[in-house]
Amino acid sequence: MSAKVAVVTGGNKGIGLAIVRALCKQYQGEVYLTARDADRGQAALESLASDGLKALFRQLDIDDLNSVISAAAFFKEKYGGVDVLVNNAGIAFKVADTAPFAVQAEVTLKTNFFATRDMLTHFLPLIKAGGRVVNVSSFVSCRSLNQCSPELQQRFRSEDITEDELVGLMQRFVDEAKTGEHKQGGWPDTAYGVSKLGLTTLSMILARRLSKERPNDGILLNACCPGWVRTDMAGPKAPKSPDEGAVTPVYLALLPPGATEPHGKFVSEKEVQTW
Ligand code: NDP
Repeated sequence: MSAKVAVVTGGNKGIGLAIVRALCKQYQGEVYLTARDADRGQAALESLASDGLKALFRQLDIDDLNSVISAAAFFKEKYGGVDVLVNNAGIAFKVADTAPFAVQAEVTLKTNFFATRDMLTHFLPLIKAGGRVVNVSSFVSCRSLNQCSPELQQRFRSEDITEDELVGLMQRFVDEAKTGEHKQGGWPDTAYGVSKLGLTTLSMILARRLSKERPNDGILLNACCPGWVRTDMAGPKAPKSPDEGAVTPVYLALLPPGATEPHGKFVSEKEVQTW
């Protein structure tokens, strides 16, 4: 039987590296640190090795569909699938960034929503029975939901929203941002917030699909917030260390065998949050 395997995206620094570090200590299987840049990935691997921890490396740029597809093929070939997937990779423009909102919307949605969706499209079929899937979203997904028009809020909270409908709504946000009409369209004025709102909603849709299509496989898929964490993204004033930020994602990644919940939830500080 193949070894168990855990895969973390954006593992070369910040919360992703802390998730890899915690999995190296706690997971009974092989842990893959993936990164879009091989040199940054190798440097991270060496930093773990200097602490006596052993992770494996695989290049993976989630924005590059070929990279996603070839990584999925690699894990299928080598391990027959994946046991734990943590979609951590993400981007955020700095508040001071002067890039036009239209550009920020397109670029942010591309990585945080569309590329993470590509990961899920190509990796979910590989997730083995008993597998765990964790999407690192953010508490701003909840705040952004509450700032949407009542019509949009209703769709994002509904149990019958489909993946296609969600993709259409996320594309609509990008299109309306380009013409400066997103606020009239019922959206909040935050590209990052909408990208994570999309990711949390996608997590709920895919969890419902897993329950329907693979009811006996015991796979648990959730979105979570790591908290406000001191990383290159959030800056030095955030209260949590990366290791503290890794706690909730790792808790979801290591939900014990036979657990039936949480599933399809948004989780913060190890607690299911109201959506
Ligand atoms: P960092 O900016 O420190 O790290 C982001 C990681 O994502 C880096 O490894 C980066 O790689 C990687 N990444 C970005 N784009 C891609 C891509 N296309 N393919 C592969 N990897 C990519 O951020 P954090 O550690 O703070 O954030 C990690 C996650 O946590 C993100 O999803 C973020 O939105 C979320 N989050 C963070 C919070 C915080 O307070 N820090 C709060 C709430 C959520 P590279 O080094 O090559 O750029």
